Amino acid sequence: MWAIGQTDRVVHRYMNSLTTNDNIRTISRKEQVTIFRLRTEHAPLNYHLNRINPQHPPMCPLCNDQFETTDHLLLHCPNLDDLRHDLLPPTPDITNILSSTTDQLKNTSKFYHMAMYIYCDMYTAPSKKEGQLHCRTENLIVPFF
Ligand SMILES: [Zn+2]
Repeated sequence: MWAIGQTDRVVHRYMNSLTTNDNIRTISRKEQVTIFRLRTEHAPLNYHLNRINPQHPPMCPLCNDQFETTDHLLLHCPNLDDLRHDLLPPTPDITNILSSTTDQLKNTSKFYHMAMYIYCDMYTAPSKKEGQLHCRTENLIVPFF
């Protein structure tokens, strides 16, 4: 269940520049789900998964930052700089990434999915040994809300 107050706060923080011409309506269903999850901070990133299951480590698997949040993934993770350069605007911020043109919304969705596959490639083996970090491909198809 969503905490209504918290959801309101998050949605406002990420969506306050939206208009009735939101381009999310012009992208595919899969891309819409990705953008909506990122806007509401309900993408299956480690910080969010940790809030659901405290056994799940909240850190970023690529750079070991303390919390893998939506902001961290989209804006700050140093190991996603190349991907960010290729797919996000030159000076990325939450508005120009998540409330933008059709082409940018498609690229933002692509950025997210490619980042998940990078994680998966790097951490499948250690996860089997340590049970700490795990490939999140399965999370991509799990309905999350
Ligand atoms: Zn990171």
